[in-house]
Amino acid sequence: MTRTLVLATHNAHKVTELRRILGAQLDGIELVGYDGPEPVEDGDTFEANALIKARAAYEHTGLPSIADDSGICVDALGGEPGIRSARYAGTRDDKDNYRLLLKNLGDNSDRSADFMCAAAFVDGESEFVELGVWTGTILHEPVGAGGFGYDPIFRPEGLEVASAELSPDEKNAISHRSRAFGALMPRIREHLL
Ligand code: IMP
Repeated sequence: MTRTLVLATHNAHKVTELRRILGAQLDGIELVGYDGPEPVEDGDTFEANALIKARAAYEHTGLPSIADDSGICVDALGGEPGIRSARYAGTRDDKDNYRLLLKNLGDNSDRSADFMCAAAFVDGESEFVELGVWTGTILHEPVGAGGFGYDPIFRPEGLEVASAELSPDEKNAISHRSRAFGALMPRIREHLL
């Protein structure tokens, strides 16, 4: 029997992206998007906010639900913007956000940063959450036209390019999101199938 798994997201593209990331880990599972009322994300960690979103989707659908919460943490900025990444500059505009980050970091020589993603599962019986981390450094100027958010200013560790210069498949193979969901899926499969 195929089990339905709800992904809480207001972005239909995220369902397609997650299907690509998970591939065979979705065998026996039908992943469907759910664009319901957005809960107040008032947790103070990525994990807490991912759980808030997954719980809200479960409460509205009655079906096993997953959600994620992500952002970028810059060491020299004390971990900022962190859970405030999407609204760092106050406009929800990607360019405004990364320009403010570059301004705040200035020419600081410590440019280490981590993309973080918490992925959570809730079904009324169990709750699981996993954190994925993608380590790198902040560039001095934006480069590349791919990706979104802070991708033009993030150079993943071990690579010579910004994450905005990676193809979607290259990014999906190593990103914080694929690490978080890659760790969460075996637990979901064990629980549901
Ligand atoms: P969320 O939608 O609450 O998870 O907020 C995520 C925010 O963090 C986005 O708006 C981006 O600014 C940033 N972010 C998360 N993941 C990525 C990524 O893979 N690339 C670039 N920016 C990201």
